[in-house]
Amino acid sequence: MMLALKVQLCKVVIDNNIKIKFSGEIMFKKTFMALTLIMSVSANADKMSEANIAVQPAAGDVYMLQGPGGNIGVLATDKGLLLVDDKFAPLAEKIESAMKGIEDKELKYIINTHYHGDHTGSNSYFSHKAPIFAHENVRNRLSSKADHQVDSLPVVTYKDGVTIHLANEEVQLTHLAKGHTDGDTYVYFKNSNVLHTGDLFFEVGFPYVDLNSGGSVKGYLANVRHMLQHTPDDVVIIPGHGQLTDKKSLLAFAQMIDFSINKVSAALAAGKTEQQILAEGIGEKYQHLSWAFITEEKWLKTLVADLK
Ligand SMILES: [Zn+2]
Ligand SMILES: [Zn+2]
Repeated sequence: MMLALKVQLCKVVIDNNIKIKFSGEIMFKKTFMALTLIMSVSANADKMSEANIAVQPAAGDVYMLQGPGGNIGVLATDKGLLLVDDKFAPLAEKIESAMKGIEDKELKYIINTHYHGDHTGSNSYFSHKAPIFAHENVRNRLSSKADHQVDSLPVVTYKDGVTIHLANEEVQLTHLAKGHTDGDTYVYFKNSNVLHTGDLFFEVGFPYVDLNSGGSVKGYLANVRHMLQHTPDDVVIIPGHGQLTDKKSLLAFAQMIDFSINKVSAALAAGKTEQQILAEGIGEKYQHLSWAFITEEKWLKTLVADLK
């Protein structure tokens, strides 16, 4: 498949005049990653039209697609394709080209890991090609937006999870309560041994916990621990944002969140104000995880708001 992939990627470059490279060759800087979380499509339409989609093999039949927005997972088999998340609307055709460049087969299924616009922005485009699966709260939240398009909504919803069988792969979708939002799903490709975490893992730094959409920092930590407990030690991990990684870095991420919760809880119990907690900071060990979208200050404010 590697050989076929290289040949077809060249074809994509010629046909669409877009640059696709293995992302092993591309280092996304943290400043660039910040752009990936900006959820206003219109304000970024120009940047989007120039953006590239990078394809990187994860393991087995699973690939990661990177560019603005949350990371995409693609299962590519001779029986068809499965897409996990779909970034922003202006990227839809580039995503499709990149996907078909891996395996020129029909798109069979789409999964939304949660409702945020950097993971569901191309739903309206792809929903005409295959059914979208998601937790019921994803559909509820998308449909409650005043300007939503009916064809952007998931059409197969579940409460706890569902398993999709495609070719030799068993794609396990598991909902975990109240973490990043209240509609999070992680996706485990059993035979390829790849985990797509959705936004339950920010490899890039401090996590975004969307308290206004049912998220919770303690729930988030519980969900990260759940994924650690329910996947093999050698699993290959596609994080919601950041680079392809492994369980060691997911474990370090869990430890950082645990440290943060304990630190802020102790400070609040000691009667410290938000201002004092911000002035003290997260501490030397983890301050380097501050990044453009979730700065140290924003992370601490989220912890205070949720734990007080
Ligand atoms: Zn995201
Ligand atoms: Zn998100």
